Amino acid sequence: MKYYSANSYFRDRFGCRMYKASVSLDVTCPNRDGRCGTGGCIFCSAGGSGEFSSEAEGSVPERIDLAIEKVSAKIGEDTGIIAYFQSFTNTYCSPEYLDDVLGQAFSHPRVKAVSIGTRPDCLPDGILEVLKSYSRRYPVFVELGLQTSNDGTAKWFNRCYETKVYDEAVARLKDIGVNVITHIIFGLKGESTEDMLESVRHAVKAGTDGVKFTCLYVLKGTRLYDEYKAGGIDLLSREEYFDIVEKALELLPEGVVVHRLTGDGPKKILVGPSWTMNKREVVNYINRRFR
Ligand code: SF4
Repeated sequence: MKYYSANSYFRDRFGCRMYKASVSLDVTCPNRDGRCGTGGCIFCSAGGSGEFSSEAEGSVPERIDLAIEKVSAKIGEDTGIIAYFQSFTNTYCSPEYLDDVLGQAFSHPRVKAVSIGTRPDCLPDGILEVLKSYSRRYPVFVELGLQTSNDGTAKWFNRCYETKVYDEAVARLKDIGVNVITHIIFGLKGESTEDMLESVRHAVKAGTDGVKFTCLYVLKGTRLYDEYKAGGIDLLSREEYFDIVEKALELLPEGVVVHRLTGDGPKKILVGPSWTMNKREVVNYINRRFR
């Protein structure tokens, strides 16, 4: 099955392989501290969906070095680095703080781009001004957690913003030259395959430049775990999940980049689906089925 993978896109754009070094910032999330919600999205762990990030200690270049060090055996010296601010909501801060951390990130000799994970309702004018000033000089990616375009489903998992907020955010980000990546979850409670595909269509129509798909997985310590234990959650099997992915790929216009076909939860707290636990097997399956 043909799709535009992140690896191909990065080679086309940067002329080399790229590695995303996950780096924590000193931020939290407005869906946890009461500004727009409490308790967070029900699937979100204590680490704010960023368990693979390096510690939030030291300068940003030091944190980037730490993240690179962890994978130095796997990536070559010629691999470019994307500083990936993954955990929590990385624009839930002052414009001055964002400006400072982006400046620090780009001062690292191997960093060619930044990718900023955030919520679409956390992009006020001051933050957009900062993003604009960097996107004029460097590649800037912003990753938006849409998960679904269905506001009813979003209410169930406590997203705490309406889909129209996402639409406006994509338009504003694209206006200032930022590359938008949309996160979509397949397998959310109550959604049919058609609902899931509708989320993909919605993101494409909104103008997203890339997508990241993942299946709903359950982590210990989350409210989703409580619902799962009570028998209220059905998780997708590997075949069910990738059948949906295959249909989703068919909906993507040429040029929309697939940054991820599926995600993997942190092993220590991952409860299910069990097939996501063996990463090597999942990769082999993807290679057999999609490459
Ligand atoms: S918006 Fe992101 S960080 Fe905040 S609760 Fe939801 S998944 Fe977690």
